[in-house]
Amino acid sequence: MRTMILALTPVNLGDATDWRNCVAAARAVAEPHGASVGAVLVGGTAEDAQAALMAGADKIWLLSDAALAEQIDPAQFAALFADALALPDLSGFRLALLPVGGVGDAIAASLAAKLNAALLGFCISVRLTETGVTAERPAYGGRACLQVTANGPCLASMRVAETEKGAETGTVETLILNTDLPPAPPISRRDSGVQNASLDGAKIVVSGGRGIGGPEGFAQLADLAAVLGGALAGSLPSVDAGWVPVARQVGQSGKFVTPHVYVAVGISGTPQHMAGISLHTRIVAINKEQDADIFRFAEIGLVGEWQQVIPALLEKLTEKNECMRKAGS
Ligand SMILES: Cc1cc2nc3c(=O)[nH]c(=O)nc-3n(C[C@H](O)[C@H](O)[C@H](O)COP(=O)(O)OP(=O)(O)OC[C@H]3O[C@@H](n4cnc5c(N)ncnc54)[C@H](O)[C@@H]3O)c2cc1C
Repeated sequence: MRTMILALTPVNLGDATDWRNCVAAARAVAEPHGASVGAVLVGGTAEDAQAALMAGADKIWLLSDAALAEQIDPAQFAALFADALALPDLSGFRLALLPVGGVGDAIAASLAAKLNAALLGFCISVRLTETGVTAERPAYGGRACLQVTANGPCLASMRVAETEKGAETGTVETLILNTDLPPAPPISRRDSGVQNASLDGAKIVVSGGRGIGGPEGFAQLADLAAVLGGALAGSLPSVDAGWVPVARQVGQSGKFVTPHVYVAVGISGTPQHMAGISLHTRIVAINKEQDADIFRFAEIGLVGEWQQVIPALLEKLTEKNECMRKAGS
């Protein structure tokens, strides 16, 4: 029987994570082995099923109870996926991928415990072997790469650049499960006091690298992000130096961002950093070295010291915003 790689994904992830990436990642693993792709979508609609087919699934199991369109707890998702994986068509799976990120990680951990499956975590690549899978995953904040092998059922997450394979045909089956959902933990919300816009889903990102040299420079980048209505981010060295929180690291071992515009300041443009930026994002680069690699990716490049460029940019933008405010009042 043809091996099937599974994508297990809630459709409403509650943040900017693109669930279709999970399906596309399953396709990327399946293709070199001639395997097929099955996707279990929780909380999706017929349009979502079509999007999953476009992302490369051959068969969809759609669990579309209206109550599931609301954000539900990772343990509840895990309970639903565990029941789905007990179905005759899905049991005996070899590899299932979950979405990259906190929600996907939490579901994978809970599901691995339920199924006694190997939990591979976030991987850079996953390949099928004769008896199981072998995967590469970043470790120590991306400074090392581990090779892990496992036999028996495995759970992992992986990111791919493209989510659309084109109009594929496949079958969609509606799933009806009578899962006894565990109660969701009560959530109390309070204001963290942090004013910076979230990186997830930001349309504009202002990101600083080692060239910024310290927290004072990052304070100016935060001002620029605020004036532009965007979010602040940084490269690995600036996170290591403590100038920007780790949750705002962009790159191979950090976040994958998909803004319209990414302003890279004092960032050289290494492959590990660029791996965190969508191919569809427009890059504006500010760097003092005209040969910096970042200019190869940038649509607009400014050669200069950020100490001169950023204050001037801030002044102009603040002036412009003030004019627009007056014109509007
Ligand atoms: C497995 C692995 C995973 C990794 N994951 C990540 C990751 O997720 N994210 C990530 O960012 N890195 C990651 N890295 C690290 C990556 O290889 C680079 O070390 C890092 O991206 C470099 O960051 P940078 O561009 O800030 O620093 P640098 O490469 O040191 O570049 C600094 C730039 O600032 C410019 N500059 C200096 N002073 C000024 C000034 N006054 N004005 C303007 N420009 C100035 C310089 O010309 C230079 O181009 C990873 C590495 C490995 C091995």
